[in-house]
Amino acid sequence: MALDLVLLGPPGSGKGTQAAGLTDKYRIPQIATGDILRAQVEAGTPQGQRVRSYLDRGELVPDQLVVDIIRHRLSEPDTEAGFILDGFPRTVTQAQALDAMLAELQRPLDAVLYLQVDRQSLLDRLGQRHRQDDRPEIADHRIDVFLDQTAPLIGYYRDEGKLRLIDGSRPPELVAAAIDDVIRPLVAAGDGPNTRPTAS
Ligand code: ADP
Repeated sequence: MALDLVLLGPPGSGKGTQAAGLTDKYRIPQIATGDILRAQVEAGTPQGQRVRSYLDRGELVPDQLVVDIIRHRLSEPDTEAGFILDGFPRTVTQAQALDAMLAELQRPLDAVLYLQVDRQSLLDRLGQRHRQDDRPEIADHRIDVFLDQTAPLIGYYRDEGKLRLIDGSRPPELVAAAIDDVIRPLVAAGDGPNTRPTAS
C-alpha cells in the first residue's frame, strides 16, 4: 500500500521534525518545499535569486512555482510507497492542484495532520533557530502569512474528511506518538486505504 500524508502547521510547529521521524519509520520520502526552495537559492540560478526575494521577506513563492516542483517530485519512483508533504500545500490553490494531480494518479491523500501550536510558542521556537527568515520580525510575518493564506486549508481538508488535529505544543516524542496513533490504523487497514474496494 502507499501512505500519502500531508503535514500542515504554522512555521515552527515541528513539521520538519515529525516528517523526518515518519520517513525513518515508514520508509517514505519527506518532501519539504522549503528545503527544495532553499537549495534553489543556494544554486544561485536566476530562478534561485527570484525565490530568494520571497524567502527573505517571509512571503510565499508563487503557487505555480511550487506546484511544478511537486508535480516533478511526485513523478519520481521513490514516491511509489508513499510520501510526506512538509510545507505543501500552503494555499487553497496549491491544495486544489494537489488534489487534481493525485486524482490523475488515482491515489488520494490518506490523511492531513495539522500540528496545532500557539503563537507565542511558535515565536519562542523560531527564536532558537538560526535561519535567515527566523529573525523576529520575519518570523512574526510568516505566522501572519500562515494565518491568512494557509489556515483556510484546515477547513478545506476538514470538508474532505482528511483532517486530523494533533497537539503540537508537547515535546516531539509525544507529538510523534499522537501521530502514530493516527497512522497505525491507516497502515493496519491491510492492503491499505488507497486500493480500490473489491466486490464482496
Ligand atoms: P516553515 O514551515 O518554518 O515556515 P519552510 O521551510 O516550510 O519553513 O518554508 C520556508 C519558506 O519557503 C516559506 O516562508 C515560503 O517563503 C517558502 N515556501 C515553502 N513552501 C512553500 C509553498 N508550498 N508555497 C509557497 N512558498 C513556500
